[in-house]
Amino acid sequence: MSIDAKLALDAFKIDEESHIQIDQTRCKERCQTRYCLYVCPAQVYTLGQEGEILIRYEGCLECGACTIACDTTLAWNYPRGGFGVQYRFG
Ligand code: SF4
Repeated sequence: MSIDAKLALDAFKIDEESHIQIDQTRCKERCQTRYCLYVCPAQVYTLGQEGEILIRYEGCLECGACTIACDTTLAWNYPRGGFGVQYRFG
């Protein structure tokens, strides 16, 4: 089974409030590598047209890889109780 197929089995209870924040100004000024674009298995981070990091927090797998990769500006917390990924389906 492919990773994409396995990911499709996960279920998400989506909070209206993001559990991931980035200071866009600090990110642009201090980070040239943009590791977050490459380490996230769920492709939560993408690059916007103005060079900003876009965040689709709804698909976060709560693996923590981005918190290790980013030492500049990322503020990441687990989703509030009852929200987030549910692995029991995959
Ligand atoms: Fe992506 Fe994992 Fe970070 Fe969630 S915790 S945004 S899945 S790298």
